[in-house]
Amino acid sequence: MEKKKVLVIGAGMGGLSAGSYLAMSGYDVELFEMSRVAGGVCTAWHRGDFTVDLCIHWLVGTGSASSFFDKWNELTPMDDIEVGYLEEYIRMEDLHGNFIRVFSDVNRLEEEFLQKAPEDRQKILEMTGAIRKLAHFPVAQSNPRELTNLWERARELIRMFPYMGVFQRFVSISLADYASEFTNPLLQKTIFHLFEPDVPAIFAILTLAWMSEHQAGYPKGGSLPFAQRILDQYVSRGGKVRYESKVTRILVEADRAVGIQLQDGTVVRGDWVVSAGDGHNTLFELLEGKYLTKELETFYEKRHTFPSLVFVALGVAKDLKDLPALVQFPLGRSLIIDPETIVDELKVRIHHFDPTLAPPGKTLITINLPTYNFPYWESLQTSEPVRYQSEKMRIAKALIEALEVRFGGIADKVEMIDVATPSTFTHFTNSWKGSFEGWLMTPETGFRNLPHSLPRLKGFFMCGQWVAVGGGLPRVMLSGREVAQLICHADRRPFIPHVAVQDQEQMAETP
Ligand SMILES: Cc1cc2nc3c(=O)[nH]c(=O)nc-3n(C[C@H](O)[C@H](O)[C@H](O)COP(=O)(O)OP(=O)(O)OC[C@H]3O[C@@H](n4cnc5c(N)ncnc54)[C@H](O)[C@@H]3O)c2cc1C
Repeated sequence: MEKKKVLVIGAGMGGLSAGSYLAMSGYDVELFEMSRVAGGVCTAWHRGDFTVDLCIHWLVGTGSASSFFDKWNELTPMDDIEVGYLEEYIRMEDLHGNFIRVFSDVNRLEEEFLQKAPEDRQKILEMTGAIRKLAHFPVAQSNPRELTNLWERARELIRMFPYMGVFQRFVSISLADYASEFTNPLLQKTIFHLFEPDVPAIFAILTLAWMSEHQAGYPKGGSLPFAQRILDQYVSRGGKVRYESKVTRILVEADRAVGIQLQDGTVVRGDWVVSAGDGHNTLFELLEGKYLTKELETFYEKRHTFPSLVFVALGVAKDLKDLPALVQFPLGRSLIIDPETIVDELKVRIHHFDPTLAPPGKTLITINLPTYNFPYWESLQTSEPVRYQSEKMRIAKALIEALEVRFGGIADKVEMIDVATPSTFTHFTNSWKGSFEGWLMTPETGFRNLPHSLPRLKGFFMCGQWVAVGGGLPRVMLSGREVAQLICHADRRPFIPHVAVQDQEQMAETP
């Protein structure tokens, strides 16, 4: 039987996941990726002695107790990956030398919070109680919502029942509002800055629960090797990738997607088209806005995206292993990032936990400076390239100065400076407004995803962080898996998710 051909736009984690599962299920799959590497924002780059890692700080599903572990294991043998679990997730400091440590272990976290903010005892115990309760909450479903029947949904509700109280309490309140329920100023600040302040508090509770249970750790080597492992498995299953192949149109005939057109004019036809690229680009440009629904229009008009970033990486010729891996401290004076963005605090990641990113005795430091001022950076880069470069350097120098003030002995040890801006994000991944993670999850969106298909367009699916609201590698991976299931279902073929480790053993045995 001739294999059906699936064209997948984008080789980020969403595209790699959909492509892998479709290849496993017997499809002829080709990914079309505009850049020169696969992985999308799950990436890293080399600068001098250093590897600048952009993405993975924690990966949900590294531990076998996680409901995501089995899914990752279908894409790459997880036991082959060395995983590290940090003792301390973040250290939050104030101007007076006080600090609160957010330990990964919930018992230590509780002890630290109670010791530093005894006046918030009740609230602290409520929080740590919720963390413990959700430790084994199985998030990853096996089937997409579109393929679950009433009975399965009822079973799902029953499964959710014991967690309902905690969910209702923490899903409808933003982290920022939740923080304001505490009275100790430093603890308030700690909670507020755990993650994006607009996400529902449940996001923080769940993440801390998974960290505590060693279900979310750091894969040694970081982002690019992780993406590369998944790419290798995909290729070993017969999947193909065409790099430097930007898709500029989805070809539609009689309301069915029948192929794609690349920037150089090449036309490729297929039985299915999957977009795992940027959502706005897909709906408004590749499909020319012809297949929008009311829900999508409202989302794209009203909902918030994650900000973009000025992302600064510094290579320091110094062993910084005695410093916390992530620390936030107030700046002596405000730093202007761009005309709409001023910061008073710095969140600094010191990557001493991964020796593959710097030679012995040296350390990679990265700092994310969130900004929503994408138009400024884009226009600066295109219209004033010299000032664009000098602005990047101005920010980097101000950060080095701040690190010198806080830690000392840094400024004269900086060997590498690398600054990415919102414009860089869009240039390399096409991301709408340079957003670093797609749709922001808020109390309004909750965990609800956007649909994988468009009601009036046949032969087409979408996956990735513009469908999986809130983004993040596990949810993006799951959305790719779901699209593969939906395609198999539509074609009445079995969905075949192999366990990657078994495949490797089988491959080794194959003469
Ligand atoms: C700084 C940072 C830190 C993060 N930290 C974590 C973390 O610790 N843990 C975690 O789980 N998640 C983290 N994330 C989020 C996670 O990395 C993303 O949500 C996820 O990788 C998104 O995958 P995606 O495939 O949906 O999108 P992308 O990675 O954006 O991939 C889309 C791909 O499509 C390509 N493309 C777009 N348009 C076209 C086109 N027209 N033609 C051809 N190709 C196209 C792009 O080049 C890109 O390769 C982080 C992200 C960032 C940026």
